[in-house]
Amino acid sequence: MIPYGRQHISQADIDAVTDVLQSDFLTQGPAVPAFEQRLCEITTAQHAVAVNSATSALHIACLALGVGPGSRVWTSPISFVASANCARYCGADVDFVDVEPDSGNMAVDKLRQKLELARNNDTLPQIVIPVHLAGASCDMQQIHYLANEFGFKIIEDASHAVGASYLDEPVGNCRYSDITVFSFHPVKIITTAEGGMAMTNSAELADKLRLLRSHGISRDENLMTEPTHGAWYYQQLQLGFNYRMTDMQAALGLSQSQRLLPIIQKRQLLAASYNRLLADLPLGLPQLDDVNISAWHLYLVRFDDKSKRKAVFDALRAAGIGVNVHYIPIHTQPYYQQLGFDWGDFPVAEDFYERIVSLPMFPELTAEQQNYVVQELSKVLQ
Ligand SMILES: *Cc1c(COP(=O)(O)O)cnc(C)c1O
Repeated sequence: MIPYGRQHISQADIDAVTDVLQSDFLTQGPAVPAFEQRLCEITTAQHAVAVNSATSALHIACLALGVGPGSRVWTSPISFVASANCARYCGADVDFVDVEPDSGNMAVDKLRQKLELARNNDTLPQIVIPVHLAGASCDMQQIHYLANEFGFKIIEDASHAVGASYLDEPVGNCRYSDITVFSFHPVKIITTAEGGMAMTNSAELADKLRLLRSHGISRDENLMTEPTHGAWYYQQLQLGFNYRMTDMQAALGLSQSQRLLPIIQKRQLLAASYNRLLADLPLGLPQLDDVNISAWHLYLVRFDDKSKRKAVFDALRAAGIGVNVHYIPIHTQPYYQQLGFDWGDFPVAEDFYERIVSLPMFPELTAEQQNYVVQELSKVLQ
């Protein structure tokens, strides 16, 4: 089976992890700050906090921004469930903003309409979490503009988008947001097996994220409520978690990050080939615009005729092609239906869902494999 996504592991990656295994520190050693520093260099953000998953990063990003019971957090229905669950972990109420029909990214006009309604009802959100679907940034300039007008904070879920750029600057620089989150799950752009990172330009938010990552414990005497008892002394200042990344993971991530640029270039080449090879089929293809350089985590096609989607999906799977669907709208999940959402709430997202299939997209996909995917797809569409 040709998978839809797959990690790329080099000998240098293996050596980097082996080195850590033979060193003094398997966790909380030098690799984690080195990997954090590297992500600051890549994105130009001032602070990076590595954690054990993007889900954890989203959770503590919400907490660091003061999300709690009674808070309102809005995100996109076309995402992985973690984009919404992070707010539920904090006891907040989640709502969704419908998407653009082509990109599947949060629609700015829908966001504005919903904010205006919410202002009238005194139900404005504290946080909005735009999701950069497939690796291309949302319209962050406009969303940031709305944040100033309506007074909400922004967490970018850039799980798909490490290495992408928007308006000629790296995604993750937090120019238009308070915190940006990356995922290093194996199907994503670079991997640490499990892992995530929160980027921010606020020293205060970075300190909060670090406390929350490790039990709420600090050894900083300036933060203590009484004089230190000695060199062993620490204080738990609040309720935190064990969300730490290991040094094995960070060493793998650091090694992978040395190849970030060629990985993105390879994904761009594959996307350009798909766009060329699929141009004559009855499909909506992802746009390559000049505002975004996508990281091309996913290559999503949209069927003109959505009644064909299931049969084509099944035929491609039967031909050994691991197509997938990203994503089932979050608000239609039983857990969210129990909270009062239902089919029909976000019609553009639901229509998008019914049309999409993700084709194989990963650096080691060969031209031969790609031609095979296109050939099988053409066959079943005709
Ligand atoms: C993968 C993903 C996550 C969760 O990432 P983990 O590192 O697996 O926790 C969150 N949001 C989006 C959009 C994702 O694709």
